[in-house]
Amino acid sequence: MIHNIQITIYRAYIDEEFVFIAKSEEEALERAKDSYWYDESPNGNLRIITEEKTVQVIKGELNNWSDNDKNPNYHVHWKCPKCNKEHQTDTSQVSPQSALWFCEVGTVEDIFYVKW
Ligand SMILES: [Zn+2]
Repeated sequence: MIHNIQITIYRAYIDEEFVFIAKSEEEALERAKDSYWYDESPNGNLRIITEEKTVQVIKGELNNWSDNDKNPNYHVHWKCPKCNKEHQTDTSQVSPQSALWFCEVGTVEDIFYVKW
């Protein structure tokens, strides 16, 4: 059964170049700080554009590729409806257990809400 949700997507641009999508403004700011190119000054170079979008919810499975719990290497395996392949996306997040991800061979419009 296909399950869709309507959400707000935050597309982040640094120096007018698209860098990532996020589920909230806080997440976008947090991730921008990890970028070498991010300028935090008041006239900085980060631009966030929001968009209402209906996306498909996909069930993913969290796997730890490391056999060492002290240095986990989490990847979420999910079956992509766009290309029909399994994508294995690395994540540092055990929670909040959801993310907006692209099809690895699709376009910037092929966005899925993956839950694990
Ligand atoms: Zn795909």
